[in-house]
Amino acid sequence: MRPDLSSYHHLAAGKVRELYEIDSETLLLVATDRISAYDHVLDTPIPDKGRVLTAMSAYFFDALDMPNHLAGPLDDERIPAEVLGRAMVVRRLDMVQAECVARGYLTGSGIVEYRQSGTVCGIELPEGLVEASRLPDPIFTPATKAAVGDHDENISFEQLSAIVGAELAERLRTATLDIYSRAAEMAADRGVLLADTKFEFGLADGELILADEVLTPDSSRYWPADGYSPGRVQPSFDKQFVRDWLTGPESGWNKDSDAPPPALPQQVVDATRARYVEAYERISGLSFSDWIGEDVA
Ligand code: ATP
Ligand code: MG
Repeated sequence: MRPDLSSYHHLAAGKVRELYEIDSETLLLVATDRISAYDHVLDTPIPDKGRVLTAMSAYFFDALDMPNHLAGPLDDERIPAEVLGRAMVVRRLDMVQAECVARGYLTGSGIVEYRQSGTVCGIELPEGLVEASRLPDPIFTPATKAAVGDHDENISFEQLSAIVGAELAERLRTATLDIYSRAAEMAADRGVLLADTKFEFGLADGELILADEVLTPDSSRYWPADGYSPGRVQPSFDKQFVRDWLTGPESGWNKDSDAPPPALPQQVVDATRARYVEAYERISGLSFSDWIGEDVA
């Protein structure tokens, strides 16, 4: 008999994920079907999104040669039936208080800083780069972990060193760039560009452990390689239908207003679900119908 989710103490709710305590050393990390766009969590869930993101993290934890926080199989009997396939039993870690971002392309907050100062997180970049330019080499651009509702703030390597210590900062940079390069190569083999991605690490007995979610569309920007064209914002692999609809004439919503976004129409939900499944299948080469848990579509 699997336990009920309500039997676990609820520790925290993020925009998309929920964290529960299994025991003093073990947590249950649950991905919901919530989706965010333009800094709002939408009222309309995307069926199976939580399972797709969990499948993706599991795929990369397995593929990467790096200690990770998984503390049980994906069908662990401590996982309640209602969240099977979108939950992971993980080792409770002392989390490093920084987000470890690697960027291979210039976009998002990176291009904003570059346009002001020619740098990203204090790293000098060559002149003449444009939106979505490929960087000469991937760069490590850490950020502070903001409280719920706040934006993460990019920081320099020196600032990171002041927060976590110089030695740990070096280890974080090396690990982040290693994993990024590895994953970018894997994605490129499948016709997908990994523009940037965020990792979170924890420590256990001094050992650096890859935690949280990894290389999911929520923590990464994936771009289809065909159609890649620097100089404009690249279409998002997964959220483009949602963004297009929200900013299009039909939604009646103004993204610069304070108003919450309206509910998504069914065809946008269906198309977005299909996109998430496609991203998983394309990047992993696996079939989503083989993933555990209940298929709700
Ligand atoms: P958001 O992603 O919505 O901006 P968030 O990052 O605070 O907010 P989530 O990503 O939903 O929230 O929740 C995951 C939380 O669990 C994060 O705070 C993350 O640092 C933490 N976490 C992930 N793995 C572990 C672990 N193995 N041990 C302890 N905490 C962890
Ligand atoms: Mg998070």
